[in-house]
Amino acid sequence: MTCAPTPATVTVFRGDGIGPEITDAALRVLDAAGANLAYETFNVGAAEYERNGALVPEEAFASFERTRVLLKSPITTPLGTGFRSLNVMLRKKYDLYANIRPAKSNAAVPTPFPGVDIMIFRENTEDLYAGIEERVSDEEMRSIKVITRACSERIIRSAFAYAEANGRHKVTCVHKANIMKLTDGLFRDLFYEIAREYPQVEANDLIVDATAMQLVMHPQRFDVIVTENLYGDVLSDLCSGLIGGLGLMPSSNLGHDFAMFEAVHGSAPDIAGQGIANPTALLWSACMMLDHLGKQEVASRIRTAVDATLAEGPEAVTPDLGGSATTASYVERVIAKL
Ligand code: NAD
Repeated sequence: MTCAPTPATVTVFRGDGIGPEITDAALRVLDAAGANLAYETFNVGAAEYERNGALVPEEAFASFERTRVLLKSPITTPLGTGFRSLNVMLRKKYDLYANIRPAKSNAAVPTPFPGVDIMIFRENTEDLYAGIEERVSDEEMRSIKVITRACSERIIRSAFAYAEANGRHKVTCVHKANIMKLTDGLFRDLFYEIAREYPQVEANDLIVDATAMQLVMHPQRFDVIVTENLYGDVLSDLCSGLIGGLGLMPSSNLGHDFAMFEAVHGSAPDIAGQGIANPTALLWSACMMLDHLGKQEVASRIRTAVDATLAEGPEAVTPDLGGSATTASYVERVIAKL
């Protein structure tokens, strides 16, 4: 008799809004695909804060520190006032410096922008997201932008290393060095310094505003993008619009010791509790997690089943993709194809 292999343990954060619905949906698919994972699952976020006064229970941090792999669903962040973004805090606390966001057209999701295949490498720990803000007076507030050599070098090197390992031909550095000559100037200079180590990969740079226009006019010209935190955040939402919306954009947040996987979208309070959220972005994030865990075969089967489900058209897909399916019926169809 052969024993089943011991499951890998991952930490799961069920967040706010649509978070719990899409987490449960994604875990159902992982189990049905035979991912053989054990989950340490925690409720985190605004609701948890109101219940227990902490956004993340201590045991949840302890679990992530043990498993080193986190599947995280979206968390609501109050605007203007209230607690600091938990997402920003997690990225800083665990030094998850590389935020990798693939925007790839899906044959089954028609958009005016076919053939998009862009890999965004967003620096995840500094820039204006460092949270260094000060009130000079009631009339003047300041936010400090921090760009360091060390953090820039490691994200730029990650982008080139990825391009080289995956047969991608070009890395584009996005910046605003014409205005922010010191901070963005440093980022751009380091980009060309590191580019010399990868002579087989083409390197070019573009100013962020021109990038926004070029992404809409000629998205097929982009391959790998490497950029600072704020530009990466904005441009990846733009890129999600090119491929059919936020419901289709996964991400990984990688550091040396820890890895976190999450959808790019937020907690979508406007549709929370209605059972119509699209779980694909979180499910594809879970596939990136399976790749990270060496379970590429399971990830590939899930991706194939999702593609086949998306191809079934409006009655199979959720309303954000123009369909009439519920989260539950969509997941049933994916599972049936595994
Ligand atoms: P959002 O991404 O939650 O929603 C934007 C729009 O996209 C909404 O109309 C929403 O219904 C739709 N949408 C998003 N995901 C969807 C899905 N899976 N299926 C179907 N439709 C989907 O952005 P927002 O409304 O600006 O932010 C809501 C909250 O989420 C805010 O508190 C924000 O701070 C937070 N947020 C969290 C994360 C995160 O946890 N990583 C990321 C972004 C925003």
